[in-house]
Amino acid sequence: MPVFILFITVIMLSSCSNGPVGGVLSIRLIQPTADHCRYTIAPATLYTVDNIYELRGRIGSVVTFDENLLDSNQSDQSIVLGTGAGLESIVVDFGRSGSTFIPLNYDTLFGASLYFAVEQGFLLFSSLDTVSDVAKLVPNLSDTKIVHEARRTFKGEDSEAVDNAEYKPYFINDNPEDIRNYFFSFPTTPLIEGMPLGVNVGIMVHEFTHLVFHYLARKQRLKDQTGFADYLSLNTERALNEGLADYFGFLVAKDPGFFLCTFPNEPRDLSQAKQFSQEYHNEISQEKVVAPHSGGAVWAAIQYQIGQAIGDHMVNGRSLVRLMGGLMNCATRTEGKLKFDFGKVAKCHLDSLAQLRSDYQATAQAVYSRYLGPYGDSSAK
Ligand SMILES: [Zn+2]
Repeated sequence: MPVFILFITVIMLSSCSNGPVGGVLSIRLIQPTADHCRYTIAPATLYTVDNIYELRGRIGSVVTFDENLLDSNQSDQSIVLGTGAGLESIVVDFGRSGSTFIPLNYDTLFGASLYFAVEQGFLLFSSLDTVSDVAKLVPNLSDTKIVHEARRTFKGEDSEAVDNAEYKPYFINDNPEDIRNYFFSFPTTPLIEGMPLGVNVGIMVHEFTHLVFHYLARKQRLKDQTGFADYLSLNTERALNEGLADYFGFLVAKDPGFFLCTFPNEPRDLSQAKQFSQEYHNEISQEKVVAPHSGGAVWAAIQYQIGQAIGDHMVNGRSLVRLMGGLMNCATRTEGKLKFDFGKVAKCHLDSLAQLRSDYQATAQAVYSRYLGPYGDSSAK
């Protein structure tokens, strides 16, 4: 009899600790509720994990880095980003409640939440359109490093990097075909006034959109070594990238004010209508690289208005994925160099939208006419 009891006990213990560690898993982690900027710690489903005890799966792995990544000199940084040397697994500790994994320390809770936020971007784009099937676009996606508490300062500067959530494609030997992908999250900087960027789901989907934009739109241009004809075109591409990222962040967060949960005073609420101004057009036409976020915020707000007007944000999202895929064809060429502005990009977007739903085109066109400002005028001529 005692032997029998021992046998039962061993069976129970092993079934407790030896459940599946990959596949579709339930994890208690930080996630948004339906209310603006209200987050909770509750069970969520992860779909792409290979091994939860290593926070590793199809979309990459969560790691940490002890030193300051950009304080080190340039060649050290190349070694870290080129080889992954110095990036370390975080100490993962889970309990179980039924089939749900329960993080037992801060790093495990934050790391699992970070994985969840990045996975939300992967699931969105993989489901939107065959063009944005990320697993096909990025064959080495599982090599992606999601760096938790990445300490980043700019070389020669004392201040913390303000870019405290970031997507960074690293080119091995400067080859655009050989890319290692990084997401950085630095949650403890005093610059953050609200929700840490790494667990603000809209923000990490914003960063994931930069990865998709890189593979759909920028990569071919870099491979062909096709430059821009002028700064207007270069600044437009940079602002477009930011604006699309805000819009896709909204598609997952389902809150047009998701950015404000982290930075409450920034003009990044998509539901506040915004129009391109002549001053902005003049600014990005100058012979210099201009900060991309203000123009991006206008583009994102226009996309929000279009989605509201047609009553279908997901179809608008699909049409924007197709816009990214065809962006190089949207540009005209001057002596082989690419040239476009927001007027031209809006026209290409209307074409991709019409391919999906021709009955939506006139409504979207009316939104553009209202908010494109100087770009609406130039495209009408
Ligand atoms: Zn961005």
